[in-house]
Amino acid sequence: MGTGDYSNPFDLFESLFEGFGGMGGMGGRAARNRPMQGDDEAYNLVLNFKEAVFGVEKEIEITRLEGCNTCDGTGAKPGTKPTTCKTCGGQGQVVSSTRTPLGIFQQVSACNTCGGTGEFSTPCNTCGGDGRVRKTKRISLKVPAGVDSGSRLRVRSEGNAGRRGGPPGDLYVFIDVLSDPVLKRDGTNILYTCKVSYIDAILGTTVKVPTVDGMVDLKIPSGTQPGTTLVMSKKGVPLLGKSNARGDQLVRVQVEIPKRLSSDERKLIEELSNLNKAQTANSRR
Ligand SMILES: [Zn+2]
Ligand SMILES: [Zn+2]
Repeated sequence: MGTGDYSNPFDLFESLFEGFGGMGGMGGRAARNRPMQGDDEAYNLVLNFKEAVFGVEKEIEITRLEGCNTCDGTGAKPGTKPTTCKTCGGQGQVVSSTRTPLGIFQQVSACNTCGGTGEFSTPCNTCGGDGRVRKTKRISLKVPAGVDSGSRLRVRSEGNAGRRGGPPGDLYVFIDVLSDPVLKRDGTNILYTCKVSYIDAILGTTVKVPTVDGMVDLKIPSGTQPGTTLVMSKKGVPLLGKSNARGDQLVRVQVEIPKRLSSDERKLIEELSNLNKAQTANSRR
């Protein structure tokens, strides 16, 4: 390192700072050789509607970095010995002195020749010196009831292997849920629209309604107004982490009014209309 002109006090300060940093082990040999945690790995899992509602056990296949068996994760070819770096003498760092008006400053920096490791080793043929290889593994995954699109599951320590004996990263499973043709999910509730005839809405009836538990009878009370929402209690989605608590299924009643009437139907409706008019006239008397 050449001698600098330290007329600018900021230059001097930066050099001192750098020097102390190197002494303290930042960027020195210790840092370069220390174990490093592996990266997290991501996996996208697609579930059907019911799997997301009730939870499911899935076997997934992930590809990730695992420790190399050939070199035991060291990255060095078995049977070879590392050679010491001649530039730094195996220290992994080099010291340079700078003479300044304030005295001599020593600066420590990582050795460029060996990248701060202090040695050279013959790379393992299997992993190319990384100490890790990409492998495929099957993992059994328990998806809890109540997950939804956008839910994220964390599987501890199933990510990529660490370097130089560092701990592995985590596996993150991102959930995507396919929609159902008739049932619509709204958080922990399930929405459904049922159609009833105007006669059934007036007189009341019982209809069969699809739910995540199968077909269930739903009572339509007499005099049900169009657009009414009926609540089927606890027929919704289990709460994530509290699977004994469930949301509801909300059924919107759509009342169908016929666009065409048979002549018999028309006669009866007209009779009903006349009856209605007579009643209104009576009540005015
Ligand atoms: Zn070196
Ligand atoms: Zn290897």
